[in-house]
Amino acid sequence: MIIIKTPQEIEILREGGRRLATVLYKVRDMIAPGVTTKDLDAYAEKLIREMGDEPAFLNYQPEGANIPFPATLCVSVNDEVVHGIPSPKRVLKEGDIISIDLGIKHKGLFTDMALTTGVGEISSGDQKLIDTTEKALKVGIEAARVGNRIGDISSSIERFVRSRAGNKYGIVEVLAGHGVGREIHEDPFIPNFGKAGTGAKIVPGMVIALEPMLNHGTKHVTLDEDDYTFHTADGKRSAHFEHTILITDGDPEILTKI
Ligand code: MG
Repeated sequence: MIIIKTPQEIEILREGGRRLATVLYKVRDMIAPGVTTKDLDAYAEKLIREMGDEPAFLNYQPEGANIPFPATLCVSVNDEVVHGIPSPKRVLKEGDIISIDLGIKHKGLFTDMALTTGVGEISSGDQKLIDTTEKALKVGIEAARVGNRIGDISSSIERFVRSRAGNKYGIVEVLAGHGVGREIHEDPFIPNFGKAGTGAKIVPGMVIALEPMLNHGTKHVTLDEDDYTFHTADGKRSAHFEHTILITDGDPEILTKI
C-alpha cells in the first residue's frame, strides 16, 4: 500500500532531507586517497548523532538477510554496486569511484540519498558513467508528476540511458527505487526500466526515493557472502545516485537538498 504523507509529515521529511543532504555532502568532501571507508562511516554517524537524529541503515535487517546492516553508511567502491559495508581495511586510492548511500531518521521519519564521485583523478569513461547516472536520476524525477504512473518514471530513465549510451551500460534490474517516510522501504517498488503508462498512479503527497544504478558492462549483479554487498557480475564499475522526492501538484520537490 502506498502511504500518502500528511502535511505535518512532509514538514518533518523536508527538514530530515535537508539534514541528510548536509551530512552526505560533508562526507563526500572527505573522500580522498588514503581515507578508509570506515573513516567515512564514522564521520557520517558522528554528524547525524550531533544533530540529534539517528542513522537509518545501522542495524536495519531487510528480509532475507541473516544479520542486520552493521554500519551507518553504505560505501560501494568500483565494481561494488550498492550496500557495501565500510571497513578500516578498505583504503581509497586515486582513480577509484565510490558510491555513498545514507539514510537518516529525523523525528521518526526516514529519508534516503546517495551519490557517486571519483577519488582524485578518474578516467573519462568513469566520469561519463557517473554523469549519465546522475542525469538519469534527474530525468526520473522530471517524470514524477501527477498524471503519470510509476512506470513512466521507470521508462523515462531507461529511455534516457539508451539514448545516451545505447546498450553499453547495464541498468541494474534487481534493485530499485521505493516509497520512503514512515519506513525506509515502502511501496511502491520503482524499477529503473519498464513500460510507460503502467503501475500505480502518481499522486500528491507521495514520497519516493528514486535511485538509478548503472554498470559499465552487464546489468547482472552478484550478492557477496556478507549478505549485503552487490558486485557487478563482470567486475566492471558501477554508479548510483538517489534522491528522496515529494510529489506535488506542480514540479516534484527534491527533499534531500541543502
Ligand atoms: Mg534507497
